[in-house]
Amino acid sequence: MASKKTFVFLGLAAFVSFGFRVFPSGNQWPLDKSTTATSKIFVVYPYGSRTIENDLPSSDPSSGSTTTSIDNLMTSIFNDYNSVSASFLVLAGQSDTDFSANSAQRTITIEEADPNGASSGGEAQQARTGGQVTSCSIKLKAQVFEKAKTFVTAVTHEIGHCLGLDHPQEITKSVMSYFQSGDEIRLQTDDQMGMTYLYPVDSAKAKETATLGMSCSRTQ
Ligand SMILES: [Zn+2]
Repeated sequence: MASKKTFVFLGLAAFVSFGFRVFPSGNQWPLDKSTTATSKIFVVYPYGSRTIENDLPSSDPSSGSTTTSIDNLMTSIFNDYNSVSASFLVLAGQSDTDFSANSAQRTITIEEADPNGASSGGEAQQARTGGQVTSCSIKLKAQVFEKAKTFVTAVTHEIGHCLGLDHPQEITKSVMSYFQSGDEIRLQTDDQMGMTYLYPVDSAKAKETATLGMSCSRTQ
């Protein structure tokens, strides 16, 4: 009997650690994971060549120089998302060779927000047609474009929303969390799990139905 109780306890622990949240309609982008070109979502952004202060911590892959550029930081954000190996999604910029042929209805646009707007650092808004996401708009306050750490955190977070991630409220180790701290400026394990759930390389492995620890069954 003891072993049975242990099993249930571990099952519950697994359930409550299922922290990431996704929006109810999840991933509705018109993606096709059969090829790299059709697995891409494109991100169009302003001020690519702008030089800004690099205040990223030494542990960050883009640290080391006193200044950096918006282009460099965007590339590092793409690399972060594209390094989630169990997710088929590929983020790319406007200069990508597949942009002209594949960007229709698969583009996230980043713009500077109206300085008189109500938002704080940034906000993301998906546009949908017939239940399918056709674009996403990210608006960032002007000050977000001034320092690397704020920029990386805000853009990583808002792109997460565009891709279908919501705010997990019960954990701290997530760039999507309400409790995100200064150290969580890029995707954390929980965020990577959310991306894998939404864009699975192998859907049979990525999607499980949690049943309060009594059993887990795979879904298609
Ligand atoms: Zn948010």
